Amino acid sequence: MLVEVAVAAAVRGTFTYRVPAALAEEVKLGARVAVPFGRSRRATGYVVGFPTAPPGGLELRDVAEVLDAVPPFTAKLVELIRWAEEYYLVPPGELLRAALPPGLNTRKGTQGPVRRGVEYAEADPGAAAAVATLSRARAQRALLEYLLARGRIPVEELRAAFPRGRAALGALARRGLVRVETETPVARAGLLPASGAAPRLTAAQAAALAEIEGAFGAFATFLLHGITGSGKTEVYLHAIARARAAGKGALVLVPEIALTPQLSGRFRARFGDEVALLHSGLSGAERHAEWARLRKGDARICVGVRSAIFAPVQDLAVIVVDEEHEGSFKQEDGPSYHARDLAVVRGKLEDAVVILGSATPSLETLENSRRGRYRRLELPARIDDRPLPEVELVDLRRLRRPGQATAPPFVSPRLAEAIEETVAAGQQVILFLNRRGYETLVVCEACGAEARCTECSVSLTHHARRGILLCHTCGRTERMETRCPACGGVRFGVGVGTEQVEEAVRAIVPAARVARLDRDAVGSADDTAAVLARFARRDLDVLVGTQMVTKGHDFPGVTLVGVVLADTALALPDFRAAERTFQLLTQVAGRAGRGSEAGRVIVQTFNPGMRAVACAATHDYATFAEGELAERRRLGWPPFSRLLAVRVEGSATGARRAAETLAHAARPALRGEVAMLGPAPAAIERIRGRTRWHLLFRAPTPQALFRVHGALAAVAHHPPGGASVRFDVDPYSMM
Ligand SMILES: [Zn+2]
Ligand SMILES: [Zn+2]
Repeated sequence: MLVEVAVAAAVRGTFTYRVPAALAEEVKLGARVAVPFGRSRRATGYVVGFPTAPPGGLELRDVAEVLDAVPPFTAKLVELIRWAEEYYLVPPGELLRAALPPGLNTRKGTQGPVRRGVEYAEADPGAAAAVATLSRARAQRALLEYLLARGRIPVEELRAAFPRGRAALGALARRGLVRVETETPVARAGLLPASGAAPRLTAAQAAALAEIEGAFGAFATFLLHGITGSGKTEVYLHAIARARAAGKGALVLVPEIALTPQLSGRFRARFGDEVALLHSGLSGAERHAEWARLRKGDARICVGVRSAIFAPVQDLAVIVVDEEHEGSFKQEDGPSYHARDLAVVRGKLEDAVVILGSATPSLETLENSRRGRYRRLELPARIDDRPLPEVELVDLRRLRRPGQATAPPFVSPRLAEAIEETVAAGQQVILFLNRRGYETLVVCEACGAEARCTECSVSLTHHARRGILLCHTCGRTERMETRCPACGGVRFGVGVGTEQVEEAVRAIVPAARVARLDRDAVGSADDTAAVLARFARRDLDVLVGTQMVTKGHDFPGVTLVGVVLADTALALPDFRAAERTFQLLTQVAGRAGRGSEAGRVIVQTFNPGMRAVACAATHDYATFAEGELAERRRLGWPPFSRLLAVRVEGSATGARRAAETLAHAARPALRGEVAMLGPAPAAIERIRGRTRWHLLFRAPTPQALFRVHGALAAVAHHPPGGASVRFDVDPYSMM
């Protein structure tokens, strides 16, 4: 008996082994096996096939051990991974290893805790008074504030918001400040527990649901295009309830869980024990246990981030990809793949319905719906007919007074006034700027030298509170000196970051309670949840932050959203720069006016006429998409072409030599059909002392790109000059 094994190593292709008679019964498709590999005595591999004839000319070795009684991967998942291996040009064993929760790679067998019911946590009515007494127990205080803000919620939501909050929850319960109770859900076969009762659907939601339900039982892909606040999640929940009523399973992919913990809570409240969560806030053992519950069919719904696309959901009927346009579905490091695109492939393999939801669909997904591959469903209005916020553009060019060289104030009088008014009215403000730090660039007045990272080809950001210059690419820091190290001249900073915005807000509204939400201000998921809880409880008036403030938060008190500078991403050398800008602006504008009070948005920009900015201001996705698609078609970018990026890293000469050798090898395979851009140094030419070169291949079909890859494979395997080479199919990052 023979098996085909994908070894968990950075090698393409699979290997054939003999199965000793003693193991023949145990070896199953999708199981892990220990095999001798290369010079190592033992490596982990995955059974991906049963060849009938041995490959010629090789002496076969024996499988040493079978590691799983129940294979972690189903036959369909093995099929999916083999598809991904071919398409994304990645080592199948690495993909399989990356798909499994950590820990499973070393331990034999899996045993999850048996769950009964859904745990709910709720703050005691008298607990609000106790918050101040907890000043020295930060974790408990944060958790309590969160519960006070959220009311009675499934513990799962707390777990998503506070990955390390278990001990604090126990302590609060012992102090009598929080009650934790288990409710046995009646969520069997689609009956909903009272606590998670489904609201009535709007006409648009009901129509979308009817279309989705009508497609059950066969493969179909839907684009659910719903504006911010239109209730897409409720459509997912209903579709999944219908699937469960028919005894089927569901998979829900979300961009990240820590920033939107409410979502996990909503699924748990509605479906109880049937939900398994897979995200990095859980420990390896917990993820492990969730995987096992899915594999055994104890849990039938999986909610997870990118890698959950490989979760072993049984009888899959519905796959949801929420915020399908988000870049985090693309795996950039290690074996690269796109979870949204794999969701469509998996739907096809399993005869499942795929729902891609977004307020700002990616142009790839939109084009697929225009070509009839995906069916488009629309939710054109907000729940309860709440209006979309009014957006006002502030043209920063006009704030520059004639003859004056200095930069305009980065908080315009118009925005400052709106902040004052909103805070005075007891309402809340979100200010968004996609740049951390105090100043993004420090320059010498005398010689013009910029403070740059010694290891990366980027400038250093000044973080005033810490008194340092920080490289946002590699994390290197140095002390901020006011004098130029080269000539002793005075240095000054330019380019505003969130830290400086926070300072400016404190000056504008001195009495307001202001906090900052970015990776400097909040070090962990727990800190993030604590800040968001304080904001939700209206213990804060103004929240300043990076894209962390743009996610799906729902704060009814927010009536003003200010975008400090809309243009930060527009100038990047990336054909998706405008699309990302439009998506970010739409997302952050969607945070305003979600309660009973109408919201408004003020966007400061140097480019009020740019399509991405102008269309975001009028909530006009259709015009934006049409214009952008026309441009992409004219310039030949996706979705009107396919891309293969080849990323080379090494010494300055090594990387260059390898890139040139690759280009030379590729030329005969281009055949006038494939365009080769480069070889050229990457937009960020050096990171951590390694020089980076890119080649970008563009073709009408993936097949033409595979031909190019075939011509490059031999060089890439042993690149000259000691460089390393990575292939990235459908690349997302152009940097
Ligand atoms: Zn100088
Ligand atoms: Zn650096």
